[in-house]
Amino acid sequence: MTATSLQFCAVAGDASDPLVRRQYPEDAHAYRTAFQRDHGRIVHARAFRRLAGKTQVFTHRDSDHFRSRLTHTIEVAQIARTAASALGLNEDLTETLALVHDIGHPPFGHAGEKALNLALNQALQQTGTLAGTQPGQHFDHNLHALRIVEHFEQRYVAFRGLNLTLAVREGIIKHSRDYRVAEHPELAAYFLDQRPPLEAQLIDLADEIAYLTADVDDGSESEILHLDAVCANVPLFAGFFQKLATKHPHAPEKLLLHESLKRMLDALVGDLIATTRAQVQAAGVQSLADVRACPQRLVAFSPEMETQRRQAKRYLYQNLYESPELLRDHDLGTEMIQGLFAHWMQHPKLLPASYAAQVESEGAPRVIVDYIAGMTDAFCMEQWNAIRGNGMQGNAMQKNGNAKQQ
Ligand code: MG
Repeated sequence: MTATSLQFCAVAGDASDPLVRRQYPEDAHAYRTAFQRDHGRIVHARAFRRLAGKTQVFTHRDSDHFRSRLTHTIEVAQIARTAASALGLNEDLTETLALVHDIGHPPFGHAGEKALNLALNQALQQTGTLAGTQPGQHFDHNLHALRIVEHFEQRYVAFRGLNLTLAVREGIIKHSRDYRVAEHPELAAYFLDQRPPLEAQLIDLADEIAYLTADVDDGSESEILHLDAVCANVPLFAGFFQKLATKHPHAPEKLLLHESLKRMLDALVGDLIATTRAQVQAAGVQSLADVRACPQRLVAFSPEMETQRRQAKRYLYQNLYESPELLRDHDLGTEMIQGLFAHWMQHPKLLPASYAAQVESEGAPRVIVDYIAGMTDAFCMEQWNAIRGNGMQGNAMQKNGNAKQQ
């Protein structure tokens, strides 16, 4: 252990670590650790590949350079691994959690998630089966990610799912929020009354760093954001940009933008590492058990950086995420998801055979939500167009559904 490393509270990940437990016991690999194997299982999963076709922020692309949910995920993994390495945490676990963190996202980003949740709730309400916070009655991308890795991915003869370690399953659920055991008794095995390990805590803020910087970049590329306005409203960015512009008065604006974002990213990561280290020391944390017992998460930005982060996020909400251009995309995505959901509620037999077979045991609303959630943006649009083109018969879906999804 070095003076700057937090190795003493890292997840060990060796054979004696209870967090490497899998639901179905497997023999140890000759030269790959348990988390390296989970990393491989995620990268080779079909749901992971579909992230390439899912909205991060932009659905309609007039540039090939906007982030998809896959390239965003790779950026989060790079940032999270850097921070884990600097802090002496378990790098393999951290990177694995970053790679899987958005695997449960439906098409059309957060608009898609909202539309699915609303459709599910309304359908259950109509059938009189909506019961508060019962599991399976809401659409939540973290819980959906767990369903993907436990049920929907089928790669093994002996069991469904990817049979991931307990540490990865816990991180999938808890990296960005806490769940109460009273509301989610089905998640009781995941230490809901305790904080997640630092490796999982890192993911939420690595995610924030990745999208705050990337969205200024993509927002400028789309010409929805303008650099003079970004400078006037995002001091964290403006400080770097103005310094660089003074030093290089003839440099192209695009290069000044990239260099400023690089410095902004570095400042956020540096602050996160230093603050987390200081918080662990101040709390007297000596082990993973201490991390778990802490009343709050220890991975954090300093109060000054937190203020700057909030300013940047508020600006992006008001000027990019809720801009008329992106709201139009959200409305379109919402309309397609609502339309497809209503169509299959009326004609559940038109679902692909593997989904139709689950309707009796799971109920049509849940099965339809699971099917739509797995879709890429393009596949969802294709289904919507097929339904409209076929007078709501959806023949194309029957032909392609099983082949293309899950
Ligand atoms: Mg993310």
